[in-house]
Amino acid sequence: MDLLQFGPNGIECPLAGVHIDPWGKVDRALLTHAHADHARFGHKHYIAHAHNRAVLQQRLGKNISLQDIEYEDTIEINGIRFSWHPAGHIPGSAQIRVSGKNQTWVVSGDYKTEYDDLSMAFEPIRCSHFITECTFGLPIYRWKPQAVMAQAIAEWHIHQVNQGYSTLLYAYSLGKAQRLIQLLKEVGPIYIHPSIAEMNRALNSVGFQLPELPLISEWRPKVDSPALFLAPPGASSDKLLRRLLPCKEASVSGWTLVRGLRRRQKLDHGFALSDHADWPGLLSAIEGTGAEHIYCTHGFTAEFSRYLSDQGFNSKEIHTRFFGDAAPQPPSTAETNESIH
Ligand SMILES: [Zn+2]
Ligand SMILES: [Zn+2]
Repeated sequence: MDLLQFGPNGIECPLAGVHIDPWGKVDRALLTHAHADHARFGHKHYIAHAHNRAVLQQRLGKNISLQDIEYEDTIEINGIRFSWHPAGHIPGSAQIRVSGKNQTWVVSGDYKTEYDDLSMAFEPIRCSHFITECTFGLPIYRWKPQAVMAQAIAEWHIHQVNQGYSTLLYAYSLGKAQRLIQLLKEVGPIYIHPSIAEMNRALNSVGFQLPELPLISEWRPKVDSPALFLAPPGASSDKLLRRLLPCKEASVSGWTLVRGLRRRQKLDHGFALSDHADWPGLLSAIEGTGAEHIYCTHGFTAEFSRYLSDQGFNSKEIHTRFFGDAAPQPPSTAETNESIH
């Protein structure tokens, strides 16, 4: 019997009576991290890495039943052992290792293999069965090193300021925003959207040390010099942002590697800095596990699984309800081809 199974509520360990990042309402939910597609409302009891506590309480309610766990600590339920290991995706993100009945499974959650100076670095875990995300599971997705991207963003910003423009970067409020705040601290002044300030406060309450930054609403048009603004992509139609003119806008996301998407969003620029592994990162992570059985979720599952099968893995595509932190719509093949040229 497989230790982990794919049921109507998501990834399940029937022998222990628990689910991992479930979408249906369950009794015991083990979470890899606090992004909305993994941490859903309505479970009776949650177990997650301690760094997620404040964000989960903010998003799911102060009174949720939540047990903290540290990296490498193990809990045992009905003889099955569960442990959390760094996934390098965002602060507090983890892979969950499940072992028992002579099987070892790892659920990757979301991960990236490049160290970002903020989240604990991704750690490859040996296992027989690996459930991997593959948000960017196509060979065209290859990231430049973080330092190169940070330099590119800083130069673009400085160029705009010299022309009299402020810049507005769209970045997810949990993970990407904090990464940019660290990477661009020399560039400032940085003004942040209230939802990012809220995440910063939550993370600082569990031990992170993000700087106190002014809110976007505190920037005064015609009085203050051009500045750098940070807001989540969902805020692009906020009234709050309309008073920031003249302003150039850019998205910071792996999806911007595809030019068609950027054009459609009517942005001035895009920076392909991602919190997910790129193609070489996915392949090196899989190799690092030594696993024979690979289950692909989250992204280009069919394409990625087919590639792995061709390489001799016992690979399956799994349909889950993880919609990804970044992709509004995965790009069509036409757009994908375009970006190769
Ligand atoms: Zn995520
Ligand atoms: Zn996700």
